[in-house]
Amino acid sequence: ERKLWTEGLDIVRALEKAGHQAYLVGGCVRDWRLDRPLHDIDIATSARPEEVMALFERTLPTGLKHGTVTVMEKGEAFEVTTFRREASYSDGRRPDDVVFVPDIKEDLARRDFTFNAMALGSDERLVDPFGGEDALRAGVVACVGEPSERFGEDALRMLRAIRFAAELGFELLPDVWEAIVEHRRRLERVAIERVSSEWDRMISGRGPEQAMHYLFKSGLLKFVKEPLPEAFMRAAERYRLNGAAWEWDPWGAPVADEASLGNLLHLPGLPDADLRWGALLWGMNIGAADVATLMRALRISGQRTARISGIAGFFERLASRPEQERQAAWVGAVLALGRSAASDALTILEACGYETEAESQWSESMQIATVAELDVKGDELSAYLAKPPGPWVSAALRELLERVASGELPNEKFSLLSAAKALTEGGRHG
Ligand code: ATP
Ligand code: MG
Repeated sequence: ERKLWTEGLDIVRALEKAGHQAYLVGGCVRDWRLDRPLHDIDIATSARPEEVMALFERTLPTGLKHGTVTVMEKGEAFEVTTFRREASYSDGRRPDDVVFVPDIKEDLARRDFTFNAMALGSDERLVDPFGGEDALRAGVVACVGEPSERFGEDALRMLRAIRFAAELGFELLPDVWEAIVEHRRRLERVAIERVSSEWDRMISGRGPEQAMHYLFKSGLLKFVKEPLPEAFMRAAERYRLNGAAWEWDPWGAPVADEASLGNLLHLPGLPDADLRWGALLWGMNIGAADVATLMRALRISGQRTARISGIAGFFERLASRPEQERQAAWVGAVLALGRSAASDALTILEACGYETEAESQWSESMQIATVAELDVKGDELSAYLAKPPGPWVSAALRELLERVASGELPNEKFSLLSAAKALTEGGRHG
């Protein structure tokens, strides 16, 4: 990571040596100031794209129209973009025209939030004309310029504001919030893929509960381009209307009561996005079919959809069923999610006031939770049953695992082999 940073600065120096101005800009400078891990480095320069391409050995013309060239150095990609301004947005999403400008400050002025509008020179001096550092210190999302104007230009920025608040654990400044409420209808212009990827990042961030609070309270969801299931919209609307005086205190605590989303406050306790989606949708009382519809509307992959509805289902069954059904659900949860994620899920149920003593006991008495821990291997199974290896092996191992995990079978080679034999013979007849 240090290396990435040093190489970025080397590119900046090479551009300077050739007589251009150049800076590290945007997210990498923000994350560096916050001591957060770097993922990619963007560079802004006064050099024109053709000049950048002439200067470096390996380059890709990734976005010439927008002034962007990708420079490859030591296997890493660096986006180098010519200082630019964006001329008029007639569609509320993409600038009609890009105009190159001579000065970094003008380039920074087109950027969305003050903490994204900082640049770092090769002498490690920060160029921060809009007070990005102050916003980082205060933990707030502030726009460069008038929020209302900036959201009018590009509606995606409304979601980015909430997403950065969630990722960084920040609050929206009041004028940012008001402009979101004012312009929420413009979300209709944002492609569903963008909505969905920002939403997913909100859920994964440090402040998912705050982000969902903003998202629901703002009324933005009504203007998502794709129709969302009615049950979901009803629950979101109930949340929006619930809680007093949000007009002047939206950045207060998220509301948690039974009428709304009882478990919103517990989302940060879950380690991954799918668990959080599952808990959120369960808390909103969204059934499996509607979960699938929602995920399809948001273009979330089939694989993740299956996992998320599985998780919502586990929550539902663990929370409401009689004990013997709960045990099967619990074993299913541990096998599907792994021990540690399943016990995180349990913590949420506890926090929501459910009795989970039995689950903890089942958990302790569960001898194993993965196929690898079974006292029999696939090739032993195939030799013992005199059947050539095939997909049946993993299905049989899975079945054995479920039985051992629920305490029906000891994890002992001979019992497992005979159980497998009964199983495959049973299969042949039935
Ligand atoms: P991350 O990569 O973690 O999402 P980032 O800040 O690098 O954060 P990018 O989407 O990669 O975000 O954009 C890079 C920079 O470009 C931003 O820091 C910001 O300065 C600018 N930017 C990106 N999208 C917009 C936008 N919609 N409006 C204005 N400026 C933007
Ligand atoms: Mg980035």
